[in-house]
Amino acid sequence: MAQQRRTLIAGNWKMNGSLTANSNLLGDLLAAKIESACEVLVCVPAVYIAQCDAMLSKSGVALGTQDVSAHQSGAYTGEISPAMLADFSCKYVIVGHSERRAYHHESNELVAQKALQALRSSIFPIVCVGETLEQREAGKTNEVVVAQLRAVMDVLDDGALARIVVAYEPVWAIGTGKTATPEMAQDVHAVLRKTLAERSEFAAEKIRILYGGSMKPDNARELLVMPDIDGGLIGGASLKAADFLAIIAAS
Ligand code: PGA
Repeated sequence: MAQQRRTLIAGNWKMNGSLTANSNLLGDLLAAKIESACEVLVCVPAVYIAQCDAMLSKSGVALGTQDVSAHQSGAYTGEISPAMLADFSCKYVIVGHSERRAYHHESNELVAQKALQALRSSIFPIVCVGETLEQREAGKTNEVVVAQLRAVMDVLDDGALARIVVAYEPVWAIGTGKTATPEMAQDVHAVLRKTLAERSEFAAEKIRILYGGSMKPDNARELLVMPDIDGGLIGGASLKAADFLAIIAAS
């Protein structure tokens, strides 16, 4: 079934970059004239959206960012609304990354509101789910990721649900060099798809479920061939053009 879903290779730059570094990195990506059937995306720090938008317009590389407010406007100092992202060619936004859940105490409910509001501004949310090492060792992986996903499913109607992207990112694999084995990842992806199918078969078939957590050029292919892995959300390896291009080539 994976063939029906267009593979999405998404870079998550996290809090990295500068005007110069971004220009060099995007310059290298654009110079490579990527010829791939997959969709390529970079999720940049919000302050650089305008710069990256200018560089990426007319390119085949899509633009996204890493967080968004759960509100559309008003007295929310420091926040950026989905409508503001939509002023640029910002197509995707990551919501519920484990670093935001951990360091900013974002609840499943808040993440769900962010996904809902992003969709209201026609921005596709990439909803991150994933268990900690402690939760995995306690046998709670499926319970945790299903609860994270269900919170989002609860606030979306079937049409909106079909427009999200899901990213399974085991917390213990992020930035650690430890990757889930393809089988481990596939098992969780299949659980997530089954959960979606309980609500809408159409959405379950359509939604891309990305894997994230130390995806690198040397492990990308074995992960991406799994039937329910429809792409990658790539942190560290998206900061080096050669590595990111190699992952795109592996897809
Ligand atoms: P990593 O990060 O590829 O550096 O492990 C992935 C992510 O946090 O999205």
